[in-house]
Amino acid sequence: MSSIKTVGIVGAGTMGNGIAQACAVSGIRAVMVDISEAAVQKGLATLQSSLERLVKKDKLSATDRDAALALVQGTTDYEALKGADLVIEAATENLELKIRILRQLDGLLPPETLIATNTSSISITQLAAVTARAERFIGMHFFNPVPLMALVEVIRGLQTSDATHDAVHELAQRLGKTPVSVKNAPGFVVNRILVPMINEAFFVLAEGVASAEDIDAGMKLGCNHPIGPLALADMIGLDTCLAIMNVYFDEFKDSKYRASPLLKEMVAAGRLGRKTGHGVYAY
Ligand code: NAD
Repeated sequence: MSSIKTVGIVGAGTMGNGIAQACAVSGIRAVMVDISEAAVQKGLATLQSSLERLVKKDKLSATDRDAALALVQGTTDYEALKGADLVIEAATENLELKIRILRQLDGLLPPETLIATNTSSISITQLAAVTARAERFIGMHFFNPVPLMALVEVIRGLQTSDATHDAVHELAQRLGKTPVSVKNAPGFVVNRILVPMINEAFFVLAEGVASAEDIDAGMKLGCNHPIGPLALADMIGLDTCLAIMNVYFDEFKDSKYRASPLLKEMVAAGRLGRKTGHGVYAY
């Protein structure tokens, strides 16, 4: 498979416009599709102001900014994706929605076009099976904010071919990212390890082993983490952390993934973290 020159992106939200930016600054054409003109314009505006910030910080020249912007197209017309070598699905995290989008893409795109999904929690093998090209389907899990985060988990479904893996792995490198190759499994690698660690911090807090501040200080200074697990939970959202633990518990049927009762209590109380002004900490 020749290297990827044009990337289609479904969804112009947080992840979609970040992926478009990463492509464009690396000289790769990005066609971003969303359902409404307002969503497309919002995605383009976010991308533009993100590039503007880089210019102000002297991290990008005005010429390179203009060259990047010229490589980005935003539209509500799925037909515009037909010329892409790879289409990355980065729409809202909802199984029914993703199934609908993938069926549509599979019918629209030439058979050789690769399809990737940026899903955080849905099985790559399951999504691949929605299409008639499971060997040319893969997970490409970017991290937020995409322009700053170096990691991409490249996730093979059961039927993903070596050629598909290699093409997407190479693309991630051309985007200036570090790809890691992962086999499909709940949470992939990073969230599988990260979220149970956060959950354990809630158990430690509930047992009164230490205060929230001391738990966070311990993990920051003892493990060199940039942020403590409880402060991180407040950033991610306690409801999201709980939902992820519940997925692992359901999938693995292993009690080691049971959610901390304190985490459940805080979610039940509406203390979801920064977004509600109160989680473990008050903001
Ligand atoms: P978001 O809500 O910011 O953006 C989703 C976009 O998808 C919206 O603009 C919405 O209008 C659009 N959309 C909905 N239906 C569509 C359709 N039929 N066709 C085209 N566009 C459609 O969400 P996000 O945070 O960008 O998440 C997108 C995906 O990335 C999800 O699968 C999520 O799990 C994954 N992800 C998110 C993060 C994160 O931290 N936000 C990190 C890694 C992966």
